[in-house]
Amino acid sequence: MMNKLRVTFLGTGTSQGIPIIGSTHPVCLSDNPKDKRLRVSVLLSWDDYNFVIDCGPDFRQQMLTHNVRHLDGILYTHEHSDHTAGLDDIRPFFFRQGNIPIYAHKRVVESLKTRFAYIFQEKNKYPGAPTVDINLVKNNEPFKIGNSEVTPINVLHNQLQVFGFRLGDFTYLTDVKSIEDKELEKIKGSKVVVVNALRLEPHISHFNLEEALAFIKKVNPDKAYLTHISHLLGFHEEVEKILPKNVHLAYDNLTITI
Ligand SMILES: [Zn+2]
Repeated sequence: MMNKLRVTFLGTGTSQGIPIIGSTHPVCLSDNPKDKRLRVSVLLSWDDYNFVIDCGPDFRQQMLTHNVRHLDGILYTHEHSDHTAGLDDIRPFFFRQGNIPIYAHKRVVESLKTRFAYIFQEKNKYPGAPTVDINLVKNNEPFKIGNSEVTPINVLHNQLQVFGFRLGDFTYLTDVKSIEDKELEKIKGSKVVVVNALRLEPHISHFNLEEALAFIKKVNPDKAYLTHISHLLGFHEEVEKILPKNVHLAYDNLTITI
């Protein structure tokens, strides 16, 4: 059984992050640190364990900011670059610890094999390349990380299958556009739920704010945090004011304990 789970928001931004390179949008120019968002990821810590959900292009910076000394594994939601592009930067963990476990859908593993062929190469492998241990995640098959059980939750990102993950009273979902009722049942009872809310206008593959709030209402957690946020959602302080009492915008470096 796990002791208290500490969740650190390593990044809460959409694929380009905030600010967007070269943008003069007011949110991109904001001085408020809460308006600066790296690519989306969370660190899950309990007992002596550290796991991350996703490993995007800001992974190195995120590990340095939070002084993460060891990593027990990476859970992947899906294969898009903003969730996977940092894989090479597991090297310092690999050099100290050996193979790093990854947990992902078979399709995601195949995608990683294409894009990081040298990491998965078995013969004549370059000595500086890291090695991962592959753990395939299947829907309706809970699995263990450390001493905790994880329930995968199947959602859709437009047409693409994506996994969310529930550990005890905590559920993390990102890149959701739709979710079946039977998957909602797996989330119900969570005290804290994290879900994506991209912007105010509808989007083909992400919940907008209205859809995220409707989803939260259905699941009815004690608290919900919104993530995978684009500059088009608006200024952090302004959006916070219009949210229901139990809903907050996540921001980079926010830590919560469940
Ligand atoms: Zn994404």
